[in-house]
Amino acid sequence: MGFFFKRVLNFEEAALKRLAEVAGTSAEVLDELISWTRRPSGDIRTQFRGELVPSRALRSPLVRGCPSCLLDDLKSGQDRPLTALTCCGDWQLKDTKDCVEHNAPFIPLWEEKTPSRRWDLQARFSDLLGSSTLTQTKPFCSHVWEYDHWLHQRLLMGNDDTWFQSHTIFAASRLCMHIGQQIIIHDIAEPFGSPGEERPEAIGFNALREGPSRLPAVLNTLVAAASGAGGGPKKAFGTLYPMLNRDYADAEEFEEFRCVYAVVHPRQLASCAGGYCPRAGYLRTNAPFGRQCSAGNRRLGKAAGQGFDRERGIIAL
Ligand SMILES: [Zn+2]
Repeated sequence: MGFFFKRVLNFEEAALKRLAEVAGTSAEVLDELISWTRRPSGDIRTQFRGELVPSRALRSPLVRGCPSCLLDDLKSGQDRPLTALTCCGDWQLKDTKDCVEHNAPFIPLWEEKTPSRRWDLQARFSDLLGSSTLTQTKPFCSHVWEYDHWLHQRLLMGNDDTWFQSHTIFAASRLCMHIGQQIIIHDIAEPFGSPGEERPEAIGFNALREGPSRLPAVLNTLVAAASGAGGGPKKAFGTLYPMLNRDYADAEEFEEFRCVYAVVHPRQLASCAGGYCPRAGYLRTNAPFGRQCSAGNRRLGKAAGQGFDRERGIIAL
């Protein structure tokens, strides 16, 4: 072919261009394929569907997928099953758990630590056909949540009609997860999901999806739910605080969420000043929130104008 295949795996532009020529593929189609394949960006980040996500969100040795999709592939290509079987790109992302087309939860397909073996699809599908994984899988419908549809649309088409459209999938899904966990812990999940179905990220998404004003409202509801003996920010917010102010304290994509959190719970600004929050320069002040926003985050300023609950004093504009 005139190039080493290893150079393709390293996403070297010249090798990719040559591969497209050899395969008779247009540059657009190749770009689309690569966007689903992952393109390394630094040590810990990866480009996936045009967004930066932590590499670990895509490199689990356990490959999961939808059995119904694979059985449909087999039906449509009975003569050449190995050619018919397809591994969908969104199955790689840790946050995807259900197939929105079949209302079915993913199942483990194979586990392989070595990436080159993990993604040798011809060999892995061959193993799969020789096992009972697909034949013994009984059709199982699960409740596919709005969160699953949101994630599917974002990955597939880039469409998003929620306020999360201005946030990365990673930041939005982490926020939904941590908020959802606290909603479940405080037993206030009923308005946001069916009893017994505890998908924190889906419950958090339902609680927050309507608009930016939902975030301070939900945070205040958590404070109210945690009030009383033994109450306090740790009880109210659980893992949300260390997530925003320690784990992703340097991450710009979480800045808007940090800013809202800091306004809802101003006493924790002191904790930020204590060293957790490198970006806390504007959070440490007692300046009106509008000025903090304009100094620190223009998007938040716009969001605030769209309807944060001023009457309850959540935001002092
Ligand atoms: Zn499916």
